[in-house]
Amino acid sequence: MSNTNHNILIVGGGTAGITVAAQLLRQNKALNITIVEPSEKHYYQAAWTLVGGGAFDINATVRAEADYIPAGAKWVKDYVTQLNPQENSVTLASGGKLSYDYMVVCPGIQLDWHKVKGLPESIGKNNVCSNYAFNLAPYTWECLQNFKGGNMLFTNPNTPIKCGGAPHKIMYLASDYLRKHNLLSKSQVHYTSAGGVIFGIKSYADTLNKVIERYHIKTHFFHNLKEIRPDKREAVYDILKDGQPVDEVVMPYDMIHITPPMSAPDFIKQSPLANAAGWIDVNKNTLQHVTYANVFGIGDATGTPNAKTGAAIRKQAPVLVHNLLSLIKNGTIEQAKSYDGYASCPIVTGYGKLVLAEFDYNNNPTPTFAPFIDQTKEQYSMWLMKKYALPFMYWELMLKGLA
Ligand SMILES: Cc1cc2nc3c(=O)[nH]c(=O)nc-3n(C[C@H](O)[C@H](O)[C@H](O)COP(=O)(O)OP(=O)(O)OC[C@H]3O[C@@H](n4cnc5c(N)ncnc54)[C@H](O)[C@@H]3O)c2cc1C
Repeated sequence: MSNTNHNILIVGGGTAGITVAAQLLRQNKALNITIVEPSEKHYYQAAWTLVGGGAFDINATVRAEADYIPAGAKWVKDYVTQLNPQENSVTLASGGKLSYDYMVVCPGIQLDWHKVKGLPESIGKNNVCSNYAFNLAPYTWECLQNFKGGNMLFTNPNTPIKCGGAPHKIMYLASDYLRKHNLLSKSQVHYTSAGGVIFGIKSYADTLNKVIERYHIKTHFFHNLKEIRPDKREAVYDILKDGQPVDEVVMPYDMIHITPPMSAPDFIKQSPLANAAGWIDVNKNTLQHVTYANVFGIGDATGTPNAKTGAAIRKQAPVLVHNLLSLIKNGTIEQAKSYDGYASCPIVTGYGKLVLAEFDYNNNPTPTFAPFIDQTKEQYSMWLMKKYALPFMYWELMLKGLA
């Protein structure tokens, strides 16, 4: 089998889709690659936490998608509405079908605002904010600047989410903002989470618990937000036991930052590519689909049990590219490369402070800068990396297939 003239279809031109396309074309310029992506804009979502804390310009988090479609790839500006892997085709919103020899599926994660009663109509006003969308993140900063004291709530849902650290990173920034403006004594910050711990790895959790003490934050675990009553400024939670609601509690707020429930995009859930939970069912090491050998999945939409982050995609992409090219060349994956579950979570703990958590599928810490930097502790150098180095790395290296 020659490794040219094969039609590779990439569904989604976000972090994963562009990175994979760029890496494939760096390996072989002759590959015939089509990217289906509806958005004219490409977002660097990881900076939205800093935007919400007033430490990053929202306009620096968006660029034209056209500038990042790699030379040699074809861009179809459309939505995929249906996946038909039995016949190697996808159906587009415009009505047509595209066929492929190989497909890489990476449409990201779906934000299910509607799963919290009252949320779709209340988000983005009256001190109900979220960093989880480009058009909303600046409002978090507005809320913070207008806050004069009272109850501040931060939520974390009972579903998988992208960037598991984001619900509490903004809480630490907000708390530091209150400290700097002498508002901490007039305020109570609450972390309300459907989970049972602040962070799943002890060495990082130990530091975060000290940060929580420093800001006098009250933690409320097994609290799953189910309703917002903006007229009364009340948040209603299910209290969970063994994952099931057993009670209900109402908490008043003066400002609330919401991380919405999330799930696989509906068209993935409804497709033959989905596992029982709706995510793309790929082998967690090779990223090849478990049933359809000519299909791969990468990024937030897959069922691999890593933390859903851009950092994970940076390690997944070379594995996928190697395995896909090997499949194209040999008809089978030879000397498969294996993804170990690496993900990184730069946990901002205040202005100028960051704990860089890095770990794999087994929750083993995998610190890049050890032994020179103790990544389990708050570091100014890591804050500088988050604010300056990582955005550059994203736009100039990762999306161009160079990192
Ligand atoms: C507030 C916040 C903070 C974060 N912080 C960090 C961080 O500090 N570090 C980190 O590494 N990661 C962070 N992330 C996570 C990171 O941004 C995501 O994990 C990453 O962007 C996922 O890449 P993806 O390609 O899977 O999805 P996306 O980048 O979301 O791209 C999916 C693409 O698919 C397209 N698409 C959707 N549906 C269809 C369809 N039907 N047909 C065709 N195309 C479709 C979309 O338009 C989109 O362009 C953060 C995210 C948020 C929101």
